[in-house]
Order: sequence, then structure tokens, then C-alpha cells
Amino acid sequence: MAALLLGQLRSRLARAPSGAGRWREYRGGPGTPSSAVRVRFAPSPTGFMHLGGLRTALYNYLFAKKYKGSFILRLEDTDQTRLVPGAAENIEDMLEWAGIPPDESPRRGGPAGPYLQSQRLELYAQASEALLQTGAAYRCFCTPQRLELLKKEALRNHQTPRYDNRCRHLNPEHVARKLAEGSKPTIRFRLEEGAETFQDLVYGWNRHEVASVEGDPVILKSDGFPTYHLACVVDDHHMGISHVLRGKEWLVSTAKHLLLYRALGWEPPHFAHLPLLLNKDGSKLSKRQGDIFLEHFASAGFLPETLLDIITNYGSGFAGNQMGRTLPELIEQFDLTGVSTHSALLDLEKLPEYNRLHLIRLLNDKAQRLQLVKEVRVMVEEVYGEQLEDRDVLSDASIDRILLLGQGRISRLKDLVSPAYSYLWTRPAVARAQLQTISGELDVIAKLVLGLLETPGISLTQEVLNQELKKLSEKTEGVEYVRMMKLLRVALTGQQHGPTVAEMMVSLGPREVRERIQRVLSS
Ligand code: GLU
Repeated sequence: MAALLLGQLRSRLARAPSGAGRWREYRGGPGTPSSAVRVRFAPSPTGFMHLGGLRTALYNYLFAKKYKGSFILRLEDTDQTRLVPGAAENIEDMLEWAGIPPDESPRRGGPAGPYLQSQRLELYAQASEALLQTGAAYRCFCTPQRLELLKKEALRNHQTPRYDNRCRHLNPEHVARKLAEGSKPTIRFRLEEGAETFQDLVYGWNRHEVASVEGDPVILKSDGFPTYHLACVVDDHHMGISHVLRGKEWLVSTAKHLLLYRALGWEPPHFAHLPLLLNKDGSKLSKRQGDIFLEHFASAGFLPETLLDIITNYGSGFAGNQMGRTLPELIEQFDLTGVSTHSALLDLEKLPEYNRLHLIRLLNDKAQRLQLVKEVRVMVEEVYGEQLEDRDVLSDASIDRILLLGQGRISRLKDLVSPAYSYLWTRPAVARAQLQTISGELDVIAKLVLGLLETPGISLTQEVLNQELKKLSEKTEGVEYVRMMKLLRVALTGQQHGPTVAEMMVSLGPREVRERIQRVLSS
């Protein structure tokens, strides 16, 4: 696949028409295969980053990294009325958070910038002008009222509204008069019959005779802002995009884009449309549901690796489904020709399970674990701050021990600050009377356990504790094992359930166990 793609790229470079602008200068050098793949993620900052966007971005990232190319973030902010404050920042932040940062972007800059369409108006004006010159585009003076009437009429006749191409036929004098009067026209692209057949790298051969179903589209609005189609084609060209990987919903637009490329005399990129990402039941992943935004998953304590893993597992493009893939593995295994045309169904209920796996992996890496230790410390400070009686619980050694013991059981780091694990950080208020209802032998048991903790040379692992506690109950009359364990559990944690007593004792450490037992005795 690599050879095929790179071969195609080389021949495309060889055939690249002159006047490809800035990008040709940038590419300048040897045009080696390693610099040839350029892909882009081009969201509109009309909303915050969600799972669907992440998947499109990720596939672009994987493709770029697999072929040693560049991954570009371009923000398509030409519809100024739909901009959402903070969305542009959020998209860049979330790509960084997810671990798939762009090589070039509005924030990072780069040789093909600016990367915000609103700052590239000059390029769209130039392209429109070129199209006007060749007659591939024309000025349209139709008023919004006329267009509205056309639309209403079509709907009344149960037809799909389309522009009737009236201004195609205006004579040059009429146009000059209108311009002299100060009318501000839009520019429309003349859709010609004879759309090209093209091979989508996912959906295969496609042809869409767009001219027979649509009226000529506006490419430049009267305020000088382009519409999506023109801006996308102009930017993909000037940014030297080699492959357009985007959602399937844009497949039908490709015919229009190819007509634009042809009219501008530019070589189009390759196209690969990605199937939709849907909920498990086949319903649409709604952008309106707050819970598909990346920020939500981040603040709920899910790891970025988890999201990358789950959204690719339910997609395709990999040899098989396998939980727990890391980003380097995703890059290595990604195969664009393996992306199927079926929608990808996402089962978000499995998210905790994915996260548990990724957490185990991180915990087994010393450097990563140290980072997690720091994160836990911050969380504990936040949740328990004032209530911490002994700040030793925040030491690296203590949190490290707790993390290692909890791996495999906790699915998110956050679980460690949930009420079920509050005993790790705060001492329970347990009264003597409460414990005596569990076993009348409170004092005897306490003494035995305190003694055990003092045993010279003993290493208090879970195994040792299990054996020794069992032995203590066996050799001491009146101390029944089950009651002893129940009593210890409540004395140490104030809770009836949780991990095994031995595990709790190890996670608390001997000093804290001693402290808690002594407290009970003196209560
Ligand atoms: N701005 C379009 C979007 O929001 C980009 C489509 C494309 O990738 O060409 O999805």
C-alpha cells in the first residue's frame, strides 16, 4: 500500500501543474516520499471537539505518521454567523490532549499558513477572479427575495429547490452597469455536465452528475467570504494536500470539487471518505448530546489512549478488533485500504473496560506511573484537602503502592477518590461499641494484630498477612477468623465491603494500620 500510494504521489508531483503557488516553493527540495504525504483535518469551529471529529482527525494523523508525512489542522471559519466562542481553541487543545497534535495549525503556524480560512480571503478572491476570467464562474445579482421565491415555488411543486442559473446569461454591459451602480454580486460556479469518475480510496469508483441535480453554487459571497466548496479546493491545493480523508457526508461534494479543480487547472488530491461513526444501536452520534464532547471524557477521567482505542476498534482499517492498542500500534497497523464502507458502531458502555486496560499498561511503565502518582496526589488534595490527617499518605511511595495494588480493579484514576476508597486518605470514625457487636474479642484481636506488625523482619505482603492472620485466629481461642476479618475491615476503613483485608492493610501501610487500631482502642 505504501509503495502504491507513494508511487502515485511521485507521479502526481511530476505532473503537478505550474503555478501551484506557495506550496510548490515550500516543497521545493527533493520532493522525497517522506515529505509527500500531507493530510488535513478541517473542522469548522462551530462547536467543540467531539468523538466524530476525533476519529476523522485520528485517521488523518495515522495516515500522516504511517507515511512520514504531515498532519495539518485547518479551521474552516468562513461561516462567521455560526462560530462558537472558544471552539477553535478547544479543537486545538483537544488534539494536543489526545496526543495527536497537528504539525501545522493556526496555533503552531507552518509554511502553508495561515491556517484559518478567514485569513486567506485573498486566495479565494484570486481563484474566483481566475474562474471569472475563463468564464467558469459568473457574477450573480439575484436578490435574496428572488432566491427565496424560487425556493418556495419549488417546494410548492414538491421539487428540490435549486438555483435556475439565470445570471449565467447576463450580458457584459448589464454586469458592468450593475457594478457601476454599486451592486455587490455573489460569484457562482458554472456546473458543467460531464462530471468525472473518480476512485475514492474507500468507496471505490464514483460518479455524481452534479450539474443535473443542482443549480450553480455560490462560491464567493457578496461580503468577500468564500463558501465551503471553493475554500476547501483552494486551500487543499495551496496547502499541498495529497490525500483528503474526511467523513462520508462529503462524498457527494467531491464531484463539485473535481469540477472546480478542473476549471482551475489544478491536480486534485486523492480522496478517501470515512464511514460514519454511530451509536451502538445505529442512531446518530448527536453533537447535541453533551456526553460526546472530548472535554466531558477528559474530565470524567478517561485517558486519551482509551478514546483513540475505542473509536478505531469500532471502525475499520486494522487487521482485526483488539482492545488495548496504543497510538504507535495504531500507526503501525493502520491500513487505509482496510477501511470498510460500513458505519462504525460505537459502544460507549465499554469505555471503563478500555480505560482499565490502558491504565494497567501505564502503571507498568515506571515513568508513566510516576506521572499518575502526581495526578492522584492532585486529585486527593482537591477532594480531601482539609480532611487529610496524615500528609504521609500523599508521599510518592504511598500513592505508588496504592496504584499498584488497585491496578486491574480500578477503571479510572478517579475511582481512587470515590467514597469507596475514602479510607485510603482519611481515617474512619469507628466507635468501640460498633466493633464489639462484631466480635467481643476486640481487645484481643487488636493486640494480636499490633503484635504481628511488630514481628521482627516480617515483610507484610498480602500473602504473608493472609497466612499470619489465619494462624492467629487458629491459635487463639475465641477468635473466629471470619469475625476477626470483618472487625478489622470495619476498624480500618469504616466500611463493610471493599478489597480484601490484607490488601487494605498493605495499601495503608503498617504505620497507618497501627495508628487506626490504637485509635479504636482508645475510643
Ligand atoms: N469544514 C468541513 C467540516 O466541518 C470540512 C469538510 C472537509 O473535510 O472537506 O467537516
